[in-house]
Amino acid sequence: MGSRPPDPALLATWLVVPVPTPLALQRLPQRGDEVDDLMSLLMDHAEPDPPQCPTGLRRAVAEAIAQASLGDNHLWQDLQLPSRAELSALFETHFPRLAARNTQNMKWKKFLYKQLCEREEIFVCKSPSCAVCSDYAQCFGPENT
Ligand code: SF4
Repeated sequence: MGSRPPDPALLATWLVVPVPTPLALQRLPQRGDEVDDLMSLLMDHAEPDPPQCPTGLRRAVAEAIAQASLGDNHLWQDLQLPSRAELSALFETHFPRLAARNTQNMKWKKFLYKQLCEREEIFVCKSPSCAVCSDYAQCFGPENT
């Protein structure tokens, strides 16, 4: 699970650069380092811009995702997307090597921050295994509300 090919109906997202919510953007001055770390993670896994798309498309999408991660809601909500499906399509289209690592269909924001922690070799999870973790519902499960 987690890295299914995007639904053809969602491929229109190729050209969409989502816009973070105003609340997430307000937090940029205080949390710029966090955005830089997320940008670095995303761009390390970005595909080259396809010839038919504008130069810098991947970077613009990465920046929007990194900035929206400062919001309080599900990442797709703080990107003002209609549902999680569009966000999954964006990951699979622009950052497929990263999307492929989300094998358990973890919530995208949780997944990104877990990647940052693993990069820094910081292990803050309560349990060695997600399957037996008391925080499982916070990291996985429906993101529809
Ligand atoms: S479910 Fe528990 S162990 Fe797995 S990522 Fe979340 S906090 Fe960490």
